[in-house]
Formats: sequence, C-alpha cells, structure tokens
Amino acid sequence: MIEFRSKVVTTTIMDPREDFARKVIETEIRYDPLTGESGRLAHFGMIKPQKEDFSSWDTPENRSRCPFCPPNIETATPRFPPEQLPEGHLHRGETTLLPNISPYDQFSALAVISRDHVVPLEKLSPRLLKDAFGAGLEFFRIMAAKKTMLPYQIISWNYMPPSGGGIVHPHQQVILSDSPGNLLRKTLENSKRYYLAYRQSYWKELCRTEKERGERFIGELERSCWLTAFAPLGVLGEFLGIFSEVHTIFDVDEAVVDELVNGLERLFRYFYSADIYSFNMGLFFAPEGAEEYFSLHVRVIPRIFLNPIQKPPDVNALQMVLQEPFTVVHPEKQCAELKLFW
Ligand SMILES: [Zn+2]
Repeated sequence: MIEFRSKVVTTTIMDPREDFARKVIETEIRYDPLTGESGRLAHFGMIKPQKEDFSSWDTPENRSRCPFCPPNIETATPRFPPEQLPEGHLHRGETTLLPNISPYDQFSALAVISRDHVVPLEKLSPRLLKDAFGAGLEFFRIMAAKKTMLPYQIISWNYMPPSGGGIVHPHQQVILSDSPGNLLRKTLENSKRYYLAYRQSYWKELCRTEKERGERFIGELERSCWLTAFAPLGVLGEFLGIFSEVHTIFDVDEAVVDELVNGLERLFRYFYSADIYSFNMGLFFAPEGAEEYFSLHVRVIPRIFLNPIQKPPDVNALQMVLQEPFTVVHPEKQCAELKLFW
C-alpha cells in the first residue's frame, strides 16, 4: 500500500570534460510515500563534505562572549517565571533548560546540552544526549501537569554552523505549540488519511515494507527501525528513526530515550566517518488523540557548506523558491554504507 513513486528525466549536453562528446545526464524525481511531495536526486558527486577544525573556536574570548558558557548561563540567560518553573531553570546532568530570549512560540525553551562550549560529534556522548532529551521531556511533563500543555511537542536541533545554528555551544529547541509547522502538519494529516483508508498505521507499514525491501532499511533496535528516507529533505540525505509502538510524550520512558540515543550514536559514527559534522534534527511526538496513526520518530538531516572557501549554505533557490529538496547522494547507497555501523 506504500508506494515509492519516482521518475527519471534526462538532459543532453556536449561535455567539455570529454572533448565535447555527447553526454546524457539523469535527474530522478521522487515523491514522498506519505505526503506525495517531490524532491530530486541530482548533481551526483559534485558536493563533498569536508571536516572543519573546531579547536580554533574554543578560545577564552569566544567562551566569555557565549551566553551558554559558565558562569554566563546564570546571569545572561532568561529564567522561567515562577508559576511555570519556580527554580527558573531546569537541570539534568550537564544540561540546563531555559526559556529562549528570542522565542518563536508561546513556549520556546532551549536545552543547553553541555558545559563545554564546543562539542564535536565524537564527543556528543550518550550521557549528554540522554540528559538533553531527558530535560526536554521533563519540561513537557511539567507543563502538562500544570495544564498548560499545547497539542504539539517537538524537540529540534541545529548542530554546528552549516545547520543554521547561530551559537556553536550545543543546544536543542524544546517547542510546545498549537501551530505544528508545515512538515508536522502535513505528516499528521497524511498519517490520518492513510489510517482511515487502510486501517493501518503508516509508520508500522513503512517499517515493515522497508524491512522487506531492504534497500533503505539500515537496521532495527528493540522497538525502533532506522531508515534512509526515500525522498530525502537534505542535500546529503535524510535519516529516520521510527518507534512505531511509541506515541505521546507519556509513552517515552528511559528505555525509549536510551534506544533513541543508541540509534543516534550509530548514525553519528557514520557521519564522523563520512566527514559530516553538522545536522538538523527533529523529534516528533504524537499529539493526544493521534496515537493510532502517528508514531514517535526522529529525522536527522546532514547539513554542509557547499564549499569551504565562501561557505555557501546548502539551501538555495531550489528549496527556498521552489520548496523542492534536492539530494546529491542515493539513499540506497548511503543505507549500504550505514549498515556497517549498525
Ligand atoms: Zn559557550
């Protein structure tokens, strides 16, 4: 019932690299199996990630200007009003959760993950990640207990500058909203439509179908399956971790957080080996009432500068003006590479 639709179009050039011989170049247009939205696979081999040296960023001067570095975090960041959180900040291990001084929404918190200013991928330890997700979840539960819950809970993350992260000190966005944003809205609407049409959860079906086909099925853990997306949202692809039997924030216990972190750590080891050092992440929980058709899932989208000299971002007119993602790698090839880290 899940369809992986795509079409290949071609263009012909007289190629200067081969003495102006005739050359046919393919572009594949793929349609997301849930939303039907298109994206393209093109430009193969033209963009390669390159490692950055972070040590130069971690200077006393940079740390003294960073609002998230101790001791600034106590004096330069806002606190929650006492009716929301009497302690002002929420602490869990090294993580401090605080309100965003420039909020995007009614409840727009930040989980400052570490005390260290710069945490490269290989140092994003399971302990740090568990504390960060744990703090976000605790915030949602506190708000729920105070009856200030809004329907949508999302944890997002811009890790390192290519991802759009303005402060290199690692921090996640902990969002509680009645406006889900376009991607979650479309995902919810289409998951419901799928459920009403087939009386089955799209997310369970996706895991089952991808496992059967094997092309994009990276592997599974006790209660989650991990895939490369058929129609990725990023230039270097998109990765999905789906917990098909886990739904709302109240279903997410310590074992689920452990498994989420376990899956992410495997993905990060692959990123490290592939010189990917920046990504966007979204962790989506089912709103109340959507348990039958929506599952907890994480999307991780690598981000890069298109070249290390001018550092152009990998989001340009295609994504901004046409709202059309393009990807320069094959999800199926990436999946094969990733299996070695599973
Ligand atoms: Zn800092």
